[in-house]
Amino acid sequence: MKKKKTITTAAGIPVGDNQTSLTAGERGPTLLQDHYLLEKLAHFNRERIPERVVHAKAAGAHGILTITGDITKYTKARIFSEVGKKTEMFGRFSTVAGEKGSADTVRDVRGFALKFYTEEGNWDMVGNNTPVFFVRDAIKFPDFIHTQKRVPQTNLRSEVMWWDFWSQVPESLHQVMILFSDRGIPAGIPFMNGYGSHAYSFINAKNERFWVKFHFKTLQGIKTMSQEEADSMVGKDADYHTRQLFEMIERGEYPKWKFSVQVMPEEEAPKYRWNPFDLTKVWPHSDYPLIEVGVMELNRNPENYFAEVEQAAFSPANVVRGISFSPCKMLQARIFAYADAHRYRLGVNYEKLPINRPRVAEVSNYQRDGYMRFDGNSGADVNYEPNSFDGPVEDPAFNEPPLKISGDADRYEQKRGVDDDYIQPGNLYRLMTPEQQKLLINNFASSLKKVPKAIQDKMVAHFSKADKTLGEGVAKLLL
Ligand code: NDP
Repeated sequence: MKKKKTITTAAGIPVGDNQTSLTAGERGPTLLQDHYLLEKLAHFNRERIPERVVHAKAAGAHGILTITGDITKYTKARIFSEVGKKTEMFGRFSTVAGEKGSADTVRDVRGFALKFYTEEGNWDMVGNNTPVFFVRDAIKFPDFIHTQKRVPQTNLRSEVMWWDFWSQVPESLHQVMILFSDRGIPAGIPFMNGYGSHAYSFINAKNERFWVKFHFKTLQGIKTMSQEEADSMVGKDADYHTRQLFEMIERGEYPKWKFSVQVMPEEEAPKYRWNPFDLTKVWPHSDYPLIEVGVMELNRNPENYFAEVEQAAFSPANVVRGISFSPCKMLQARIFAYADAHRYRLGVNYEKLPINRPRVAEVSNYQRDGYMRFDGNSGADVNYEPNSFDGPVEDPAFNEPPLKISGDADRYEQKRGVDDDYIQPGNLYRLMTPEQQKLLINNFASSLKKVPKAIQDKMVAHFSKADKTLGEGVAKLLL
């Protein structure tokens, strides 16, 4: 029989006894010199790192993106360079509001974060399972998230906070409609769509810019849970979605998504009826149809949850040549906020962790030192630039074309008349089946019953502006 490995201390010193601590006499107190005991307890005390303020509870899996459609006229990103091309990726799928141990089957938006290990660096597509968001300006984001978290006094969640905020921020109505629709509680990660949500840029080989939106549509079909099924599952198996994804992949049932894009030529943006950079709006498919790009498949479970899922760090700032940003105010803020969160959570060298480091691109720069610099810290290489010693240099081929902007620096509220907050929520309501509409109305009413009448009235007014019958339906149930 193969001899088992000997336990060691963190310094590699073999341990003779892992069951009894060193004491002064058989019944005496423990000796301070039992450094193995001290190290074991001290390490245990430090096992937790700060959990994410949002998207703390998640499941993750490895997979492959295979390109099936030619979009090289829009982007020079190598990941899309030819049909049949395969790129390794990792996905992390989360609820938003709950803590790391919270239940999976709750009514909440889901994070849909993808890291593609491309040959020109990692591209992170940090999306959600909905195409829009509650606010279009990041200055409102911390306030909004506070409403989804816990009341300062009681540490309880509060539907009053949700509706108080939403009733005063009409731009949130579109996302609120999706949240309270059947899709607000997916039956599992494989059964929901993913969206990049923001507009991004594509830049082609001629350095022409296009605006783009990313869509990942489930090939398992949309499946949802009723509120009753979801509530009872919280009691039976709070980790239902995490378990379901893991077990499906173990059985070889690999979930797949069809990846498509919507593309808007740069010059159309100023003329388009909607602000295309408003995260509370979609680009209707009739204006910008979906263009097929590829298929994403999740086919390998993590070996270690903490190393791969918890330490995975995604940032919308990670775009590769041929993909770039848009002026979406929420995207602009996320470019800062995500990397900032990871520096706080994991430390300044988080991109060097195995799950985050590029697999097919080389990292060469002049960043050195910092907490937990656990690689060779670039050895004896020169640590400044310019230098005369063969250090890495910039390559202008990776510059992107100038972004056209105009106007005065100021704080602009979006003009409501033109960029109406109610038309798209109304369109969503009107495309639902009568059963979906009924469910939406019931879901709204059962939550709104818990809030003061003045807030109910404001919400009914918003619903009515989206669609008269929706407002009437909710009002009737609140009588
Ligand atoms: P389309 O009829 O072309 O598209 C409707 C879209 O709505 C489909 O992608 C469909 O997804 C999706 N959908 C259906 N039911 C729900 C639901 N309960 N919650 C969320 N999405 C749902 O119409 P438009 O493009 O003109 O959009 C009309 C409305 O559809 C929008 O105002 C928006 O609310 C919603 N929508 C639009 C998207 C877009 O990018 N244009 C994306 C997603 C939603 P599926 O095909 O998977 O059933």
